[in-house]
Amino acid sequence: MDIKMFGQITNAFGPSGFEEEAVRTVAGYCQKFELENDSMNNLYARMPGAKEGKPVVQLDAHLDECGFMVQSIRENGSLGILMLGGMVITNLPAHTVWIRTRSGKLVKGIITSKPIHFMNESERANQSLSIESLSVDIGAVSREEVTDVFGVSIGDPMVPDVTFSYDEEHDLCFGKAFDNRAGCACIIDTMNQLYEDRERLAVNVVGAFAAQEEVGMRGATVTSQVVKPDLAIVFEGSPSDDFYFSTAETQGRMRGGVQIRLMDKSYISNPLFIQYAEEVAKKYGIRYQETVRRGGSTNAGKISLTGKAVPVLVLGVPSRYVHTHYNFCAGADLEAAADLAAEVIRGLDIERIQHICRQDLLK
Ligand SMILES: [Zn+2]
Repeated sequence: MDIKMFGQITNAFGPSGFEEEAVRTVAGYCQKFELENDSMNNLYARMPGAKEGKPVVQLDAHLDECGFMVQSIRENGSLGILMLGGMVITNLPAHTVWIRTRSGKLVKGIITSKPIHFMNESERANQSLSIESLSVDIGAVSREEVTDVFGVSIGDPMVPDVTFSYDEEHDLCFGKAFDNRAGCACIIDTMNQLYEDRERLAVNVVGAFAAQEEVGMRGATVTSQVVKPDLAIVFEGSPSDDFYFSTAETQGRMRGGVQIRLMDKSYISNPLFIQYAEEVAKKYGIRYQETVRRGGSTNAGKISLTGKAVPVLVLGVPSRYVHTHYNFCAGADLEAAADLAAEVIRGLDIERIQHICRQDLLK
């Protein structure tokens, strides 16, 4: 895994609906594949040399990150915001953001809530927050200064202001948007691993980087119709849970290997695909952990419902504090996810695909 590549991809600006920079950054690392983008900011990277008639494997990861939008500009020069994606309000104040103006300029802002100095007794006693009570301060003193001097308009998108770093000694990645730039990096790494073997594969491989997952899996609704996969592998920067559950109950331990997701709110995994993937993981000594999520959803929820139904393998890279500004993940877990996907695809043959698709069930 090229950690520098992963870092560049996480740094790219790209909240839901505004993924252009993320599209360009990812495309820069996919030059040996056949690239195509669409009007929604979905990006397709096709393995060259595809043969007609071969089954298609779609590799999915969403490109968008959780962010915000300018909802209103107040008389005093502060900005009202709304969220693109789901975040916990109490995690937001006192963090900084980048706002992208319509002319493409970046403006720095501070997410603020009412300071303690101006709270009355009851406000101090129950410090509750709503998104409406938060502001973004860009250092302006009037509405006119916001629009005319800073060039900020309502509808402008914003993202967490965080720069990637890598601690080599501890194999620790720090940055923003690991949900789901981790998945984007895994698609690229998987396709790079398969590139030399592409003629020998039983399948055609298409990397589909999807827009707007965080606002309801919208991009994958389109990509799955375009790619028309027979099988799919979804990569996610999944929430690491090792600080919230006992060691026995933990299913998303950082440095615990790739997460194989058995179920969440959007998809019950095809057990035949899971069984095959775990056999592959054991054969190649790739660390994995199984997870049954009470909540959560991925693009598998959309992809699995297209065509004649698509078996999907959902692979997670355990990432701490996704849907907040700052994330940690381990390089080894990124590698485990990409390695497993590459070996799963390498090992596929027609008989295996028919079995996973249950075409032998009535025989
Ligand atoms: Zn995600």
